[in-house]
Amino acid sequence: MYTVPNLKEYLSDPIQQVADLLTALHEEAGAVQTESDWKVFRDRWMARKGGILAQVNDLWLRAAPPERKRDAGKRVNDLKARVEEIVEATLQGIRTGVPAARADSDRLDITLPGIQRAIGAEHPIIKTMNEVVAVFRNLGYSVEEGPEIETDYYNFEALNFPPNHPARDTQDTLFIANQRTKPPREQLLLRTHTSPVQIRTMEKMEPPIRIVIPGKVYRNDPPDASHSPMFHQIEGLAVDTNITFGDLKGTLDHAMKAFFGSSVKTSFRPSFFPFTEPSAELLVSCFVCGGSGKRSTEPCRPCKQTGWIETLGCGMVDPNVFEFVKDNGYDPSKVSGFAFGMGADRIALLKYGVDDLQLFFQNDVRFLRQFA
Ligand SMILES: [Zn+2]
Repeated sequence: MYTVPNLKEYLSDPIQQVADLLTALHEEAGAVQTESDWKVFRDRWMARKGGILAQVNDLWLRAAPPERKRDAGKRVNDLKARVEEIVEATLQGIRTGVPAARADSDRLDITLPGIQRAIGAEHPIIKTMNEVVAVFRNLGYSVEEGPEIETDYYNFEALNFPPNHPARDTQDTLFIANQRTKPPREQLLLRTHTSPVQIRTMEKMEPPIRIVIPGKVYRNDPPDASHSPMFHQIEGLAVDTNITFGDLKGTLDHAMKAFFGSSVKTSFRPSFFPFTEPSAELLVSCFVCGGSGKRSTEPCRPCKQTGWIETLGCGMVDPNVFEFVKDNGYDPSKVSGFAFGMGADRIALLKYGVDDLQLFFQNDVRFLRQFA
């Protein structure tokens, strides 16, 4: 017959002690046949004087050293509640003829920690894209996306890259096989920039529009520290009446300060893109060296000691581009707009001080975990 052990050392193996006690309780409960059996059973366990719970109180709780009394008190209370529950369920079992089920929780070691599953996190490039997109969303831009397999028309022609134009050669294009029988403008390719989404959006939405376009793009570039055949761009487009180059400068200056910090300065340098005129490259003052070109005594690498970092290309939308969507309200004599585009991967490299783009795509969790 079960007797409450005298715990010489306070709860030396409390889980085993509690399990033994509950095992005995279940065995005795299983032997109860009648209500008078049950009264004996109840008194044996719950009598205020000499009941097993009373003994537990005396032998276990009192044996606990002062600093563990609180903890032991809680454990004993939990045990009491469990015993009372089983005693009550045994009575219900006799009355209904259905024996009380033994709870698996009696054997559960609630002191063991559970299995911790790793929580996912954004990839540093996705995180960078989301941060840039958030800057423009706060300015009232909406997000647009488009297909990664594009037609020649959307990727080149409607963006003012006529067939055989030399500007096409600057974007080493990956073409889909077996397209030569199709008319040139319908031939499929992997989009080389996110700009086709500008045309697709202007076809479905009348001006004014303000959109930002994040996405994957593809070019036939062998992978190295700063190139990848798949990379990411974020581009934007604003079209309305009376949009000027001043709006472009103000918007991008604000966006760069919001993203890189309010102390950066911006500078514009003339450039060329087929779909904008005039076109510019935007530079921000180096946020690593503060524009000095030096880090303490060492030369600053991110800005190549110039104090400036190129971040994006931009310009006023070329009226020739509007001609392709003129029927949807984009009359170049009535509306104007600006567009900009940046490489999200480059921004992420700069932001996180990583010097090899390939690290972002090897998906080694040990590397990626640093940015979570
Ligand atoms: Zn620098």
